[in-house]
Amino acid sequence: MKQYEFWFVVGSQFLYGPEVLETVEVRAREMAAELSKVLPYPLVYKVTAKTNKEITDVVKEANYRDECAGIVTWCHTFSPSKMWINGLAALQKPWLHFATQYNKEIPNDEIDMDFMNLNQAAHGDREHGFIGARLRMPRKVIAGYWQDEKVHKRLSDWMKAAVGVAVSKQMKVMRFGDNMREVAVTEGDKVEVQTKLGWQVNTWAVGDLVKEMNAVTDEEVDALYKEYLASYDLNTDNTPAIRYQAKEEIAMKKMLDREGCRAFTNTFQDLYGMEQLPGLASQHLMAQGYGYGGEGDWKVSAMTAILKAMGEGGNGSSGFMEDYTYHLVEGQEYSLGAHMLEVCPSLAADKPRIETHHLGIGMNEKDPARLVFEGKAGRGIVVSLIDMGGRLRLIVQDIEAVKPIMPMPNLPVARVMWRALPDLTTGVECWITAGGAHHTVLSYDVTAEQMRDWARMMDIEFVHIGADTTPEKLEEELLVKDLVWKLK
Ligand code: MN
Repeated sequence: MKQYEFWFVVGSQFLYGPEVLETVEVRAREMAAELSKVLPYPLVYKVTAKTNKEITDVVKEANYRDECAGIVTWCHTFSPSKMWINGLAALQKPWLHFATQYNKEIPNDEIDMDFMNLNQAAHGDREHGFIGARLRMPRKVIAGYWQDEKVHKRLSDWMKAAVGVAVSKQMKVMRFGDNMREVAVTEGDKVEVQTKLGWQVNTWAVGDLVKEMNAVTDEEVDALYKEYLASYDLNTDNTPAIRYQAKEEIAMKKMLDREGCRAFTNTFQDLYGMEQLPGLASQHLMAQGYGYGGEGDWKVSAMTAILKAMGEGGNGSSGFMEDYTYHLVEGQEYSLGAHMLEVCPSLAADKPRIETHHLGIGMNEKDPARLVFEGKAGRGIVVSLIDMGGRLRLIVQDIEAVKPIMPMPNLPVARVMWRALPDLTTGVECWITAGGAHHTVLSYDVTAEQMRDWARMMDIEFVHIGADTTPEKLEEELLVKDLVWKLK
């Protein structure tokens, strides 16, 4: 994971004289240093800006520097906003307006006009907010005391979403073969996606992968086989199947890394020259942070890599998922999610076990090895990016995952069970109304608010289905958004 940082830009003006400006700078440096200790990425103090040029200069540098994942602005004092126009108009990085204050309390005895002139964020941040609104700029506003833990959590979440933007802009997806034939929702406009989200999506022949697999040595396979055994329990004596998956993983990883791709797709319909659909191989690549989409679904693959990068430690608990089947017993309605093989072990409640089973679908000559496990209980989201024709729509639904309520001993794949919000059937109605795909990214550590931030920074449509959503409200929302996005 690349080391990203954020830049702290503090607004002021010359009117206050050098003493006040010096105090502002000292405090801003202190705040950046203290916040850097508790935030997932460093917040680097850059400038106390007093002129149009200072602001334009720092924005130009922020745009240019790859390690800068966004700017955080704050006005300790009043900062007349006309001098921000040129800089903000040029800004190409995510922007957070942090409406905070150095002091927590109004000091009863100490407060006089000097204190008021130095500590006037309530005043300065409103002027700053106006110009953001006037320029119609996408930005996040977080208000609160800078040492408050709740504020730290919100700043952290936004930083991770902004890192998701940086990762998106560098995203390269390697497709082995095309999409599954005749499927609609996995299609999309790759030119639009590159323009909007930065993704480079290209195809390589399965034959290229087979050639790469044939060049993998026994020693390389031995090493990865050992790693599998160290990470997972063994529940099969079919060693050749596991070694074959290792060979697939090594070959795919070499090709991905050579091209700088952090996401990939394949399809069971196009495995020509391969004995097994990659199962364990894809799962272990996902565990390392690579995105994956089945049936050629490159949108879900790239989104998987982005959500992983937005998660804890830069490789969080997010994975490719597919809605399979429902349990519709009243009072215990659940979705059962899985895939034919490829579920990311970062979703597992316990140590996954390696198994081999027959896979009827596709062109498998041999039984593919895969990891089997149950998903964790806990709150999460499912995410689907769909192409509406002329624009992209990001749909996010809140879910509550449970320990699967039955053992399902004959189900040969990893499985996750959850209840969609507001309740399963209403949630399904809303999801279907919005056009959400059967493929999703399921995440335990990325929130709907982070995805809203990401969609805003990416300038794409965002639809959230949560506890308060009703089909009626959603229909109205979609109707309005359809009009708005045609005008945009
Ligand atoms: Mn699928």
